[in-house]
Amino acid sequence: SKKSGRDTFQFYDRMMSEGSLMDLTLLEEMRVGLEHNQFFLEYQPQFELTSGKLTGLEALVRWNHPRLGRVPPGRFIALAEESGLIGSLGNWVLEEVCRQGRQWRDNGHAPVLLAINVSQRQFSDANLVERVRKTLSANGIEPGYLELEITESLLAENPEMAVARLSDMRAMGVKLAIDDFGTGYSSLSALRRLPLTRLKIDRTFIQNVASDSGDQGIVRAIVSLGRELGLTVIAEGVETAAQKEFLLHSGCECGQGYLLGMPMGAEEIERLLSGGLRS
Ligand code: C2E
Ligand code: CA
Ligand code: CA
Ligand code: CA
Repeated sequence: SKKSGRDTFQFYDRMMSEGSLMDLTLLEEMRVGLEHNQFFLEYQPQFELTSGKLTGLEALVRWNHPRLGRVPPGRFIALAEESGLIGSLGNWVLEEVCRQGRQWRDNGHAPVLLAINVSQRQFSDANLVERVRKTLSANGIEPGYLELEITESLLAENPEMAVARLSDMRAMGVKLAIDDFGTGYSSLSALRRLPLTRLKIDRTFIQNVASDSGDQGIVRAIVSLGRELGLTVIAEGVETAAQKEFLLHSGCECGQGYLLGMPMGAEEIERLLSGGLRS
């Protein structure tokens, strides 16, 4: 379209004037990489803290670059968002997660919640809801087994559209988590309008939670907020036994982090699914 053409032009214009030829190269290589199956997903397990039961898997995208090797998402997601390529990348992630979920089912495993990260920009795609519905149904996955991790920034640009689109997702049965919770600037009343199912406490609050009373207060406050709003609460970045203990005692239901399980490839996840995984 004319608009996206102009956006693209402005993007290139800015990139060139900033001399970011590296980024332009990386962007072009990302396009090629998407066509040549250089992207793959890892899955990080999520657990119920009291029982140690596996409750979900967060899909995290990785890029196996032919020259640079493994490029972490921190290097390319922002560029994909800025250039608009996040649309194609996000569609690929959705399809790959559902394909993998179906394969695990076909191999005889019980269904497990699949969480994917969805950027603000993907929500400007009017077809997103329909695309999610079709991809789930094509793979025989019930909508309640998909969770979209969104961030508060979604409310920044067009909150009405965001609320409408999220409501459609929720009406379908898809779960909705606020990622990096506590780091954004949205008011509680704005958040209250979102049809959420879960709060995901940002890693920065977990890092020192075993010793820092300020962080302890924040985590307790988020847990009780979640309880008030009827949302499940999960902590990300759980790295130590002391952090896990604090979370257990403060009533945080679920956790995710290196202590409990690293992000892993699909085969490794399948071994965990077979073993009746406990954290
Ligand atoms: P995020 O959604 O906050 O994901 C959690 C990040 O923390 C992941 O980094 C994960 O590997 C890392 N992590 C997990 N446990 C621990 C821990 O105990 N300690 C520490 N220090 N880190 C931990 P990763 O995979 O590098 O992803 C970085 C970010 O890239 C993600 O942050 C997310 O914002 C974005 N991202 C990843 N995959 C996708 C995707 O498919 N789509 C979109 N739009 N963004 C994605
Ligand atoms: Ca996430
Ligand atoms: Ca996060
Ligand atoms: Ca984060």
